[in-house]
This record gives sequence, C-alpha cells and structure tokens, in this order.
Amino acid sequence: MFENLSDRLSGVFDRLTKQGALSEDDVRAALREVRVALLEADVSLPVTRDFVKRVQKKATGASVTKSITPGQQVVKIVHDELIAMLEGEGDPGALKIDNPPAPVLMVGLQGSGKTTTTAKLARRLSEREGKRVLMASLDTNRPAAMEQLAILGTQIGVDTLPIVKGQSAVDIAKRAKQQATLGGYDVYLLDTAGRLHIDETLMDEVLAVRNAVSPRETLLVVDGLTGQDAVNVAAEFDGKIGVTGVVLTRMDGDGRGGAALSMRAVTGKPIRFVGLGEKTDALETFDPKRVAGRILG
Ligand code: GDP
Repeated sequence: MFENLSDRLSGVFDRLTKQGALSEDDVRAALREVRVALLEADVSLPVTRDFVKRVQKKATGASVTKSITPGQQVVKIVHDELIAMLEGEGDPGALKIDNPPAPVLMVGLQGSGKTTTTAKLARRLSEREGKRVLMASLDTNRPAAMEQLAILGTQIGVDTLPIVKGQSAVDIAKRAKQQATLGGYDVYLLDTAGRLHIDETLMDEVLAVRNAVSPRETLLVVDGLTGQDAVNVAAEFDGKIGVTGVVLTRMDGDGRGGAALSMRAVTGKPIRFVGLGEKTDALETFDPKRVAGRILG
C-alpha cells in the first residue's frame, strides 16, 4: 500500500529540530515527498507540478511556532491547499431544481455507475428533500438498462416512466417532460445511454436530448477509480455538451482519490457527489475535507 504522506513529511522533518522559519532546503525536501505521494494517489503530472509550486510559495519562509513541528506546519499547508483546490462555490449537494418539473440529465460512459447513481440521486431527492421524482431511461440500445432502472425505482419507491418500445431517446425525453408536467413532479432524471467509448453518435444523441429538454443540471458520472481517464472523459463531455457537475463513483474502493484533484483543476467543474458503494443509499455530497484527508493519508 501507499506510504502515508503525513508520515512521510514528518519523517523528513524529524531530522530538523530547530524552530523558526522554514528554510528553502527544508521545504524542498518536503516537496519531493508531496510530489511522489500525489503521483501515487493518481493526480496528473501537470496538476501535481502546479500544486507543488503553490505549496512551495506558501511554505518558504512560513514561521513555525513552538506549538507545532516544521513537519506539522507543512502538512497543514498541504492540507489547506488541497482543500482550496478541491472546493467549488456554494453547497455541492444543492441542485438547481426549483421551477418544477426540473430536468436533470445524467451522462457518462457505460459501466461508470450512471444508472445506479440516477437511482441514488432519486432516492436522496425524494427521501431527504421530499421531492416528487420521476426517472426515465433513454438507453434505447439496451433494454436491460431500462429494466434495471425500473427495478431500482420499485426498490426505492420512485416512479419510472413506462417503457415504450421503438421510441428514440429524444421521444422518451419529451414523454418524460410531458408526464412530469402532467403528473406534478418536482424533478425528472434522464438516464442517458452510455457507450464503452466516447463516440460521435453518443454525443449527438445526448446533444439532441439536451436541446429537447434544456436540463437545469447535467451531471457527468465517472468512475473515480479510473484516475486520469476519468478526467479525460470529463473534459470531452464538458467540451461537447457542457456539464454542470461531476459525480465520482467507486470512491469506496482502494483508490486514493487523486482523480478528484485533477478533475477540479483540469475541467474547472465542481464535484457534486461521490458514490461510496453499490446500494442506493451510498451517495454522499462531495466533501473536500474528506478527500484532502484521504489524499494526505
Ligand atoms: P452504468 O452502465 O453506467 O449505468 O453502470 P451501473 O449503474 O449499471 O453500474 C455498474 C456497476 O457498478 C454496478 O455493479 C453497480 O452496482 C456498481 N457501482 C455503481 N456505483 C458504485 C459505487 O459508488 N461503488 C461501488 N463499489 N460500485 C458501484
């Protein structure tokens, strides 16, 4: 497993007993450890470099008080800087779903956890926020995916749009909008089709759906364990269809969460939620402090 960054940094500073200001040499030694730890946590190289520079600026000459060791001081600077880089504006869990019925578009690659996340979000909105929620699967190529959403809907007590064979994704989206309006729903979640790779057909279909319903939120679901790939997927989806937020799934796995740091830095898009398991209650609002703690170890 990974060596803990906090321990590594303390190790560097154990040799230094002096108090006072952090010298350039002290900081340089610590930054080497930060750099290796971030790369091991799957943070991309450019983001790691940028981060190390930021810490260097803050740490050089920073005064070390008697109450903490130089190691603790650097750990604090690294921790604070991680949070600053991860943090978006406002509450990441607060979706813009006033003005009912509010359309929310769920996009992402097949296998990223999109359908599960749609159900998790529906459950959260209905149970915690008391919203009336409708879900619809637009995955016309995979009847099994449509059924999966219907089964999840039954499990969590959330309505799904009845399946009508032969309709296009746009047809289904329009039908969802109509049913949400007539049925007095607060929000309708559209689970778009996933593909194994990003392709033009997928993007064109998602664009057509987006144009048909003008979603209030477009949430991209990506597998948090895929690290740099997740960031590339996000950059492409955002460039083509524009996303308003990211959901990182499988954050219950072994990964160190470095994708989160790269995601925010590269795409500029806020991470809104994290998936922490297969069950429909395993969705949490993104918490920069927790992820920073995890990257630090
Ligand atoms: P989709 O093809 O993107 O719709 O993916 P699914 O929602 O069908 O999910 C694929 C698999 O990943 C399923 O077995 C899910 O139970 C699992 N999964 C989804 N989200 C998470 C998560 O946050 N953690 C874990 N451990 N598994 C997840």
